[in-house]
Amino acid sequence: MNYLTNDTIVALATPAGSGAIGVIRLSGPDALIITQKVFKGKDLFVQASHTVHFGHIADGDIILDEVLVSLFIAPRSYTRENVVEISCHGSAYIIESVIKLLIRQGARAAQPGEFTLRAFLNGQLDLSQAEAVADLIASNSKASQHAAMNQLRGGFSNQLSALRQQLVNFASLIELELDFAEEDVEFANRGQLKQAVVDTLNILTRLIKSFELGNAIKQGISTVIAGRPNAGKSTLLNALLNEERAIVSDIAGTTRDTIEEVLNINGVNFRLVDTAGLREATDTIEAIGVEKAYEKIRQSAMLIYVFDVTATTKEQLAADLANLQRGDLPTLIVANKTDLLQADVSDDIPKISNMLYVSAKEKQHIDELKQRIYHTAISDGIDENETLITNVRHLEALQKTEASLIKVLEGIDNPITSDFLAMDIKQALHYLGEITGTVTTDDLLENIFSKFCIGK
Ligand code: GDP
Repeated sequence: MNYLTNDTIVALATPAGSGAIGVIRLSGPDALIITQKVFKGKDLFVQASHTVHFGHIADGDIILDEVLVSLFIAPRSYTRENVVEISCHGSAYIIESVIKLLIRQGARAAQPGEFTLRAFLNGQLDLSQAEAVADLIASNSKASQHAAMNQLRGGFSNQLSALRQQLVNFASLIELELDFAEEDVEFANRGQLKQAVVDTLNILTRLIKSFELGNAIKQGISTVIAGRPNAGKSTLLNALLNEERAIVSDIAGTTRDTIEEVLNINGVNFRLVDTAGLREATDTIEAIGVEKAYEKIRQSAMLIYVFDVTATTKEQLAADLANLQRGDLPTLIVANKTDLLQADVSDDIPKISNMLYVSAKEKQHIDELKQRIYHTAISDGIDENETLITNVRHLEALQKTEASLIKVLEGIDNPITSDFLAMDIKQALHYLGEITGTVTTDDLLENIFSKFCIGK
């Protein structure tokens, strides 16, 4: 990773391959100078920031393309440097030729994430906002877009900086005590300090807890559909997806491997996994499938258990549920094939709470099922104003902050000297700072920005 920001970088900002237009972005002190060397049109140096200009890009006498050039003069740009965006026709040949030409004129090919890295280094974004840029680009549902957007707009950062400020105040009061160590004074009221730490811990705990939902929203909620062979799992999956995807057959045990499909309910992606029938495996291939099914259930965030309402006894149902349900795994029980029932659901059919009657084949109660899936996974719904942690790095930093603050609490309760207290508070501040980038290392930056695409 190159941390020099005194050169000018260039990259294609739009996806590689051909398209209607391709946008080439330059950032750095010489962005205008380099562009002007190859731009036939107006004098760019006398143009205002945030203006667009028509002209040609020429390599000597050869006109490469007709383009639009957008100017963003420092510091009013994404990177806070001079930025030029050249919109060319989206031919791979033209784009490559223009980029090569710009490099010959003094630009350097940008590394992955380098534009956003510069935005961070120049103070345009903090680290968690820079990460939100990557999340926003990768978002594939309303909920994941919303979480990333909230982070990009600084919701999370503001919350953290308020926490930081509290701790900084106390750290400095305690430092002051150290200066007057001989006089044995307490500037930082221990009662107030304790209350502030408890308040901060409450906020931290909420943020840490939000990761489960935040991560599920970002990745899609992993949902396993399980049940005995022929219960109608594949048919149900198809009904939910409204397409003929999984293989449906009358022969027990045909869904050998697991199939994963994405279903969007109320803006949240559910990754539905159909599993091989859960029963005593009769051959090895199937044994692998069954083992996979249990493994998938162990890894999943939610379970949909399907049974054939015409062919399952109360005992079988109880045995399956005892087998499948682990800990607090949200589980939805679906009684399938209600179309085969003579009258209304008879007394023979087991009645359990959180059970829904459907006919996968006749697509009855499928919309209701979708809503039940959503509410089983997200019991309280998503509060649009609540910050959701979606990033493992942030989670780990918050957990470390929490651990340090618990030490601070212990230090207040079993009085330790001010210098130890100050150390623990500083440690907490350090971990909090890692999230927004107040505290960074080259390794950390490298790790974050190398995961970006080039041009971002
Ligand atoms: P799986 O082994 O659990 O995946 O079961 P399948 O989806 O392959 O279904 C097994 C058989 O049950 C197929 O013949 C389906 O057509 C049938 N089936 C599935 N759902 C229903 C339903 O709601 N009603 C009826 N009548 N048949 C169903």
